[in-house]
Order: sequence, then structure tokens, then C-alpha cells
Amino acid sequence: MKLVFLGPPGSGKGTQAKLISEILKIQHISTGTLFRQLAEENNSLGIEAKEKYWGKGNLVPDNITTKILKERISKPDCKRGFILDGFPRTLNQVNALEKITEIDFAVFIYSYEKEILKRFEQRLQCNSCNIVYGLGKTPKKPGYCDECHKKLIKREDDNPEILKQRLKIFYDNVSPIVKHYKEKGILIEVNGEQPTEKVKQEILNNIYNN
Ligand code: AMP
Repeated sequence: MKLVFLGPPGSGKGTQAKLISEILKIQHISTGTLFRQLAEENNSLGIEAKEKYWGKGNLVPDNITTKILKERISKPDCKRGFILDGFPRTLNQVNALEKITEIDFAVFIYSYEKEILKRFEQRLQCNSCNIVYGLGKTPKKPGYCDECHKKLIKREDDNPEILKQRLKIFYDNVSPIVKHYKEKGILIEVNGEQPTEKVKQEILNNIYNN
């Protein structure tokens, strides 16, 4: 099963991608996480991507992002399938992805700006497990991950100014992507403002019944 998850920052798409990838036993691939890991490893491309693009809330160019994505999904652990979390983000990336592989469903988790801003005030993330804590999910020990017990961090690009830019870019690009998948008949739309469990069930019901 090959899925793409679309949604504004803070819609819960990363949380849902993780939960559903575990249920379907497929890989969860977040291009944002791949970029953050590359920067942490002091990889030159990773540092350039941070300094010029994601650190400022801008998209990393399509050619770089597509190359990194293509390499990742060609690994053996992706043979059973994957969920792409945060890819594609432009029509160019949609077209590039179609040249690489065929997608079964595109899941659009929508949420409104007011709710997103509320969620961001409390959002903390585990860099190791990629679990996002915030509204609706509080760590048992404040500031530490429930699973690996490492210290939770506030993402560098989660500050209000950069978030505004990330949201603008998302809304500037998303309509043609959603339209594309709708026309292909593989779009699943879910309201991300519902409780996490309800969002998960709606996504799974749509996948199983289509
Ligand atoms: P995310 O963790 O999905 O919020 O992504 C963090 C940042 O990584 C984004 O704000 C972008 O700068 C960059 N990024 C992630 N995925 C893509 C993509 N598909 N295309 C371009 N830039 C991306």
C-alpha cells in the first residue's frame, strides 16, 4: 500500500502517518524529518537545505526533495509500501512521484488556521521517535518522550513568524494537488480537528472500503 498524506503544518498528519503506518506495517517517510536528520548529521546538502530553505519556512527545491525521496523509497524496507508525510508539496513533485511509482490513496487532513495556531503553542516533538506532543497528547513525564524517554524539543521552524510563512506556502500550493488526486479518484478527505482516534478510524475506514 502506497499512501501520501497532505495537510497544513499542525494538522496532525505526522501523528496519523505514524499511527497508520504501524497498523498497515508500512514505512512512515517524512521528508521534513529526512531534512532535519541530514542537517544534524552535518551533511552538506542538509546544512544548505536548512540555511537556505526549511530554517526560513520555505520549501526545499523540487529537484533536491525529489532526489532524496526517490533514494529513500527505493530502499528494501519500502517494498511493502509507505506513507509519504509531507510529500508531494507542489504539482511538480506530484508529477515527479508519478514517474517513480503509483500511489493508492492521497489522504488530505484539513484543519483551520485558528486550531493550528492553538496547537502550535503547545507542540513539542521527540526527535528520535518523531512523536508529536501537544493538544490531546501530553507526555507522562513533562518534557520527555513516553517511548524513548529522550528530552522533547520545540522544532526550530515552529516559531510564529516561520509558521506563518509555512502556512502561506502550504495554502498557495495545496489546491491543485488536491484537485489532481480528486480527479484521479484516489482522494480521501478527513477533518483533522477531530480527536486523534476518530481521525485515524476515518482514514482507515476510507482505505478499507475503497
Ligand atoms: P515538515 O516536517 O513536513 O513540516 O517539513 C519541514 C520543512 O522541510 C518544510 O517546511 C520544508 O521547508 C521542508 N520540506 C519537507 N518536505 C518538503 C517537500 N516535499 N518539498 C519541499 N520542502 C519540504
